[in-house]
Amino acid sequence: MEFSLSPRCQELQALLTEFMDEHVYPAESVVEEQVSASGDPHHHPPIMEELKAEARRRGLWNLFLPHKTEWTEGLSNIDYAPLAEIMGRSPIASEACNCSAPDTGNMEILTMFGTPEQQERWLHPLLEGEIRSAFAMTEPAVASSDATNIACSIRRHGDDYVINGRKWFISGALHPRCRILIVMGKTDPDAAPHRQQSMVLVPIDTPGVTVLRNMRVFGYDDAEGHVEMTLEDVRVPVSNLLGEEGGGFAIAQARLGPGRIHHCMRTIGAAERALELMCRRAHARRPFGKTLAEQGVVQTWVADGRIAIDQARLYTLYAAWLMDTAGNKAARTEISGIKVAVPNMALEVIDHAMQTHGAMGVSQDTPLARMYAWIRALRFADGPDEVHRQSIARRELRRWA
Ligand SMILES: Cc1cc2nc3c(=O)[nH]c(=O)nc-3n(C[C@H](O)[C@H](O)[C@H](O)COP(=O)(O)OP(=O)(O)OC[C@H]3O[C@@H](n4cnc5c(N)ncnc54)[C@H](O)[C@@H]3O)c2cc1C
Repeated sequence: MEFSLSPRCQELQALLTEFMDEHVYPAESVVEEQVSASGDPHHHPPIMEELKAEARRRGLWNLFLPHKTEWTEGLSNIDYAPLAEIMGRSPIASEACNCSAPDTGNMEILTMFGTPEQQERWLHPLLEGEIRSAFAMTEPAVASSDATNIACSIRRHGDDYVINGRKWFISGALHPRCRILIVMGKTDPDAAPHRQQSMVLVPIDTPGVTVLRNMRVFGYDDAEGHVEMTLEDVRVPVSNLLGEEGGGFAIAQARLGPGRIHHCMRTIGAAERALELMCRRAHARRPFGKTLAEQGVVQTWVADGRIAIDQARLYTLYAAWLMDTAGNKAARTEISGIKVAVPNMALEVIDHAMQTHGAMGVSQDTPLARMYAWIRALRFADGPDEVHRQSIARRELRRWA
């Protein structure tokens, strides 16, 4: 068993750490100021374009994509994991490096299932960082943790598909550069349960697409938005089908593997930052005659945080290695496992970090409160904990039946 990182990964790690220190952390408050001065929580701050140009200049661009394409070299999941962790320390780093959700998952399925025309029109500008995208599966009317419930209809009329449905929590759709939606719906409600769904590419400005409102997360208006939208008689050419008719469920599975592990990698970085903030605060604060760092209870939180983060990182790296060596499907138990373990681990570390900060911990003066809100939401997004536990338990029980 080899624990050291590859030379390429170590080189990128050093470059990325330097970029974070010199550009990303100092830009966090600038992003907030520019967004707040615009009066629009979904404003695209000009500094983001400067960060993107700098990241690109330093070769820190599209690191997430494991596939070699016409436009990318490809980097393995095991090499990407430590880099995504570094980006996860800041809420703005992933976008700066063109590695943010939901685009990464969308770019991956466009790479795997897109036609050359679809790739030229949508994948290429996404890889260039010129446009953003959203993935529209979840619906308010049905229990969407079971994707077979998705009710949005996609009917063929001549050379077009006509789409009708209502979606919500569609992340990224309010980004001013969002141009394309990958919509999941049913092309054949009478087929076998996992062959009823298809995915269709829908330009966001197609007539009939209406954004109704943004869904706030714990009261936060996230910059990229999580919108509720309707699709009414939305017409797109049949050439906008992604993959084959009836293949939507399989594509969703293909998308969720990398999407989920990327969330976990970034979440480990967020937990590391929370632990660092907790330690700094523990040294600085002095109630009842000694620093918080000298209090047994704080030392327990710090030690438990270190143990929990290191456990979660090893589990995530193992899942990444399995994806690289045996394929995403072979790694599905481990991907479900990290999707449960990592956000729950991080929430506990962040909670202790907030407690160590006193009232400041739940305010806007540290990144902790926003981190907590987002990572709590991750316990639903890309599958609730219970659904992942169910699939792990089914496989484990089957072994002994
Ligand atoms: C911030 C955020 C961003 C999101 N972004 C997107 C996006 O970009 N695109 C998109 O399509 N969706 C997105 N989602 C939606 C997310 O994927 C769904 O919320 C999730 O799949 C659960 O579906 P649901 O909300 O309909 O919950 P339901 O299906 O109604 O489930 C409710 C609860 O039931 C429980 N449950 C479900 N199954 C089981 C079981 N087998 N055993 C025991 N308990 C169970 C779980 O606790 C679950 O939380 C986002 C969600 C959030 C919060």
